[in-house]
Amino acid sequence: MTAAIIDGKAFAANLRAKVGELAASFEAKAGRKAGLAVVLVGEDPASQVYVRSKGKSTLEAGMNSFEHKLPADTAEADLLAVVEKLNADPAVDGILVQLPLPRHMDEQKVIATISPDKDVDGFHVTNAGRLAVGQPGFVPCTPLGCLMLLKDRLGDLSGLDAVVIGRSNIVGKPMAQLLIAESCTVTVAHSRTKNLADVVKRADIVVAAVGRPEMVKADWIKPGATVIDVGINRVPAAEEGKTKLVGDVDYAGVAEVAGAITPVPGGVGPMTIAVLLRNALVAAFRNEGLDLPA
Ligand code: NDP
Repeated sequence: MTAAIIDGKAFAANLRAKVGELAASFEAKAGRKAGLAVVLVGEDPASQVYVRSKGKSTLEAGMNSFEHKLPADTAEADLLAVVEKLNADPAVDGILVQLPLPRHMDEQKVIATISPDKDVDGFHVTNAGRLAVGQPGFVPCTPLGCLMLLKDRLGDLSGLDAVVIGRSNIVGKPMAQLLIAESCTVTVAHSRTKNLADVVKRADIVVAAVGRPEMVKADWIKPGATVIDVGINRVPAAEEGKTKLVGDVDYAGVAEVAGAITPVPGGVGPMTIAVLLRNALVAAFRNEGLDLPA
């Protein structure tokens, strides 16, 4: 193995400590704690785990956590009413509606109802637009976390060739926008891309956000490239009846060729919540008209 391991867990712990300091500074200036509201509809087990973990992390950072759990058969109008109430609540700085929503709900409509200034997930079209034109807004947490890891590892990204595999609104597209803003030359690959291996081979930076276990192979990678693996895939483990998590990158093989790589777990995953907390604090400072400490 030649690649350096990018320790997202350690980076995220550090970021969370900084968020804690920001939260204390906010409380001292605003006379109240920053608040993050999380709305969960239904009983999806993975979503329940995420929401519990977000709530716990929010409290640990010294913020208020407001959890709204609604039954799976909640009418869309009732969910929209909850979101409107949170929009109007001055104790709530950030609002996150846990996705996916039950099938009878229109996710885009729900996201569009969140005030863009409380949209700490950065999914509202206003925030997508702000990112595209370079205005301050909220950037989706996972790609922003990936960018932080890349800048920490590589410093100035200007002029580097970046290939993002995946074009979802929550990872691939905002990742590409962030890398364009860093003056990378960006290629976005997806399921219709021809000769994907050759496309990836050009890249100094590879971000894999596909959802296909260990798809990116060692012979796709330019020697020394930096590889960020966003994928979280649960697959059967060697031991009968057990499962394990793997990324979208064939870690063992790619680590022989890459210059640096994020592991799964312990790479991008821990960054997502840390960035969410940071986004919530940024929202709090902005909502109170306060400058964010440097
Ligand atoms: P989506 O399913 O929304 O998007 C997947 C993308 O991969 C699509 O653009 C799709 O192309 C592309 N794709 C699918 N198959 C191929 C293929 N064979 N070759 C090239 N491209 C392909 O997924 P997300 O963006 O939401 O998530 C991606 C991965 O990241 C998942 O494993 C998810 O679990 C993980 N994730 C991890 C997070 C974290 O905190 N670490 C947070 C969010 C996601 P097309 O558009 O043409 O269909």
